Amino acid sequence: MSDAAKEEFGDPLSRPFWRAAERRQLVVQRCAACGRHQFYPRPFCLGCQSDRIEWVKASGTGTVYSQSRLHMSAGPGFEPPYVVAVVELDEGPRLVTNIVGGDCNIGDAVRVTWRDRVGAPPLPVFEPVRGGR
Ligand code: ZN
Repeated sequence: MSDAAKEEFGDPLSRPFWRAAERRQLVVQRCAACGRHQFYPRPFCLGCQSDRIEWVKASGTGTVYSQSRLHMSAGPGFEPPYVVAVVELDEGPRLVTNIVGGDCNIGDAVRVTWRDRVGAPPLPVFEPVRGGR
C-alpha cells in the first residue's frame, strides 16, 4: 500500500483518530463547549449537542469495565484464546478493545499499547498495569 493510500485510512470522521494511531497516540474527541470527552467519534457532542468538537490526546490509561475470553478465531491476529474487553478511559469514554500481556479482572488498571497491522494503522489494545498506579 502506498503512503498516500495509508493516509486515507478511515472515514472523514475517524481519520484524525487513525492519523494519531500511526504515531501510536491515542486521541479522543472533546467538546469545546462543555468539556465532555467522547469516543467513538461523532460530528457533535452527545452531552450538549454542540458541534465544537476537537481531538485531544488521551492519557492512555483506564480500567477494565467488562471482559470476555473468546476461544474462536476472528481472523488473523486474533488467535484464540484472546480477551475482548470494554475499557473505560480515565477521560470517561469506553471503547471495545483487546487485553494483551496478561490476565485482568474487572476494575483493574490498564494502559494502551499498540498492535501492528499490515496495510492499516496500529490498533490500540490494552495491557495490565502491574502494581497499580
Ligand atoms: Zn458538549
